[in-house]
Amino acid sequence: MAHRIVILGAGESGVGAALLSKKKGYEVFVSDAGVIKEKYKKKLFDNEIEFEEGKHTAEIILNANEVLKSPGIPETNKMVIAIREKGIEVIGEFELAYRCKGDSKIVAITGSNGKSTTTALIYHICQKAGLDCALVGNIGYSIAAQIAEDPKMLYVAEISSFQLDDIKTFRPDIAVLLNITEDHLDRYNYQFENYINSKFRVILNQNKNDYFIYNDDDEIITKKLKTLIPNTNPLPFSMKHEIKKGGNIKGDQMMLRIQEERVSMSIYDFALKGKHNNYNTMAAGIAAATLGIRKDKIREAVKDFQSLEHRMEFVATVRGVEFINDSKSTNTNSTWFALESMNKPTVLILGGVDKGNDYELMNELVAQKVKAIVCLGNDNKKILEAFKDKVPVIVEADSAKKAVNAAFKLSVKGDVVLLSPACASFDLFKNYEDRGVQFKEAVKEL
Ligand code: ADP
Repeated sequence: MAHRIVILGAGESGVGAALLSKKKGYEVFVSDAGVIKEKYKKKLFDNEIEFEEGKHTAEIILNANEVLKSPGIPETNKMVIAIREKGIEVIGEFELAYRCKGDSKIVAITGSNGKSTTTALIYHICQKAGLDCALVGNIGYSIAAQIAEDPKMLYVAEISSFQLDDIKTFRPDIAVLLNITEDHLDRYNYQFENYINSKFRVILNQNKNDYFIYNDDDEIITKKLKTLIPNTNPLPFSMKHEIKKGGNIKGDQMMLRIQEERVSMSIYDFALKGKHNNYNTMAAGIAAATLGIRKDKIREAVKDFQSLEHRMEFVATVRGVEFINDSKSTNTNSTWFALESMNKPTVLILGGVDKGNDYELMNELVAQKVKAIVCLGNDNKKILEAFKDKVPVIVEADSAKKAVNAAFKLSVKGDVVLLSPACASFDLFKNYEDRGVQFKEAVKEL
């Protein structure tokens, strides 16, 4: 009898997994409790894959040999609980992809912030160097669909903690761990330790042929590493001390030491600006050198990379006021780094859906750099409370347009208006992209 796999969730990763399962000869059924997007329904139809939407039918699901769960579905989901009770094996898309990838290599990038940026940069370097590669994972393209439809020799994959939770044997040839700060605790029983453990699953199955690139300045990471004996080749990076194998930045010079290769470069030549991006660029450079890419190619690609939309994206200068779109910042850590890189008086647009933010972390930088705050959210109580004695002007706005107009009024020539909300966007926008796009449109209308 054919192996029967049931896939929960019919978004990018669930549908990708369905295509790959079908290709592998599995009997496939897809179940989504919500509405399935038209483009995904068409994919399922075209590939003759059975599915249901608006419900999870227990009889059809609980006779699976294996269940593949989309990353957005939590363990507390009733159907997942029933599946676990029956003892059916549960995997995620990355596990399936790993089983089916053949001899191809995987670089897996994880961390609390900077995943997409670093993944896109590594991919850019690999492409410039002429490698046969694909950009996949949490960044928006299913790795399973890529393997099913257009397999490559190398997959540059962004992987989130939710995706790591459902791996079993998945083993990246190169793992990158950028940083760990509190996030998504609602999915981890409000235990930071669980989230940390989840991130470290990226090296769970590695062996002495593999590489582990990590941030040696991140205390959460180094503390955890003391409790483990990782079975891999460590390649740390730091901006605080010299690193013999890996990379460090001293003054304005980056130095990578990977096997026989030495790559040195001035940080002023990096396309990506700001301290956080120096870390991202260094991690990407180490990954590229580990893949055997020559230093001149790495230098060239790091110089001409175009930053991603909604991440410290320069929008325009209007009458001497610069506007920056950092809508992707949905926690205080990324807003901290955004502010850290500001060198002009800043009007900060902040707010949205708070995921349990501790604004105290930002106090010092706000006091140094922020001349006014524009709150962009339905409920701004927490922000008003946190900053009322620290910032001379705080106003509220309930649309991107109003926020941009208010910020513009509060600024003078030589200032920056920075949208870096530190919050999710669902109260006033569809998602962070929508928030960023509306912000940019409002700036263009000034
Ligand atoms: P992710 O994919 O992990 O969410 P992104 O690259 O999309 O990361 O960036 C998300 C936000 O985090 C942006 O606001 C960006 O400016 C900020 N950021 C990027 N890299 C880092 C880093 N290394 N540390 C802290 N914040 C960062």
